[in-house]
Amino acid sequence: MTRQERDKIRELIAKGIAHGHDNEEIIFDITLEHKISPVILIDVIRDMMEESHKPETKTVRGTFTSVWDTGAVISSAAELNLSTGELTTETVDVDIDGVLKDEYFEYGDERLQVCLTCHNHILKTVMGDRADCSYGELQVCSDPTCESREEEVSTRNDLGPEEDSK
Ligand SMILES: [Zn+2]
Repeated sequence: MTRQERDKIRELIAKGIAHGHDNEEIIFDITLEHKISPVILIDVIRDMMEESHKPETKTVRGTFTSVWDTGAVISSAAELNLSTGELTTETVDVDIDGVLKDEYFEYGDERLQVCLTCHNHILKTVMGDRADCSYGELQVCSDPTCESREEEVSTRNDLGPEEDSK
């Protein structure tokens, strides 16, 4: 089957869908009206399904900025993977005497907080127990293996024995 034939079948399927035809009508039209073998039709449909299931990693390009207590603000180009929250930064090795106050990633009108522990994942909002023991929205690293997430668990475990030892 040639490329043109495949494209023609795709076009017929799209046209059928656009006209609100159901699957049976589309199959009938293609196989009987256009005399296309059902085997070929199935082959094209299989291709189309595979294409639509291809996991696409969506990334956006933006700027990674770190803010230091000395007043230094350092920005560099970075890429964010929207499905994993992982940041790819062009390596910037800066010697700064100071404490990191804030890190964020910006693209378009969005500003996303970056994890201050691993520095390569953005924070995401989840529901859970906050540090002050209230329940509600809190920000955690999007990387489940990040050290900051372990702290979260160990702090909770530390509280346990204290209550027991009376
Ligand atoms: Zn992290």
